[in-house]
Amino acid sequence: MAAGVGAAIIDGKAFAAGLRARVGAAVPAFQAATGRVPGLAVVLVGEDPASHVYVRNKGIATREAGMASFEHRLPADVSEDELLALVAALNGDDGVDGILVQMPCPRHISEARVIAAVDPDKDVDGFHPVNAGRLASGLPGLVPCTPSGCLMLLQDRLGDLSGLEALVIGRSNIVGKPMAALLVAASATVTVAHSRTRDLAAHVGRADIVVAAVGVPELVRGAWLKPGATVIDVGMNRIALPDGKTRLVGDVAFAEALEVAGAITPVPGGVGPMTIACLLRNTLIAAHARAGLAVPSL
Ligand code: NAP
Repeated sequence: MAAGVGAAIIDGKAFAAGLRARVGAAVPAFQAATGRVPGLAVVLVGEDPASHVYVRNKGIATREAGMASFEHRLPADVSEDELLALVAALNGDDGVDGILVQMPCPRHISEARVIAAVDPDKDVDGFHPVNAGRLASGLPGLVPCTPSGCLMLLQDRLGDLSGLEALVIGRSNIVGKPMAALLVAASATVTVAHSRTRDLAAHVGRADIVVAAVGVPELVRGAWLKPGATVIDVGMNRIALPDGKTRLVGDVAFAEALEVAGAITPVPGGVGPMTIACLLRNTLIAAHARAGLAVPSL
């Protein structure tokens, strides 16, 4: 905890490192039982520089955990049919337990069709409608990585979430909606805010837990928060500084929030590292489920 301010800083980087180590430690037993290591295939279409960095980092993390990483790079003008044919081949490849198609795809490709083409049991992103349905219905399935990581940080910090007032700001399929479903499943009382919400500040002021997944720099002000609230800042916004450099900021005004919150994730170093760690966790879970083995608790 920093001197002179109230909030504890939730160290997502350290938590993610521990999770990655636990995933890696579970690989030898899987290998002993099946004769192979879990495999993650990542498909990248086009030349988006940020996506290249994400894919490279995912490959490094996968190999560090002792798993097999298969990277498929396709040109930006690849047809949707060719991409779907690759996904079908990966669905049928027994050495591949997880398939991730890095988004965004070029505009001529339907992301919804690509997501729907992935075998739900290999859908380590958790974006397939079957997995969204499983989550909404309380059935076991693969859960999107970012909200899954947020839930782990919240439970590590707060223990039992039941009865707590939770506000999720954002209703995307990849963060907001699955986050709300996870919090409902954890017996929190959940409100979902979005761009049409009236008086966001009033909702924030009632929340014991605030998860901000918006994409608007420092939208949530410190003075809006309930004293002692736990704040999970998913936002990753690159802003320009007067000196021409850039800085990464979250959806929450961090310095202000430090004065009021009980605990808060920093940006960077909070939720971001959890996303890759949860991807490895999902790959391990998918591999065990496909092999008919009990999923280790992580
Ligand atoms: P998204 O698909 O653009 O969704 C943003 C959501 O915020 C929408 O539901 C939108 O409402 C809502 N919103 C926009 N302006 C608002 C406002 N003024 N007040 C309240 N709600 C507002 O974004 P996303 O993919 O969920 O990502 C959100 C943020 O998280 C981004 O900064 C992204 O970079 C970051 N992110 C980080 C990670 C990580 O690993 N750390 C992973 C994924 C995303 P409507 O639905 O009404 O439009």
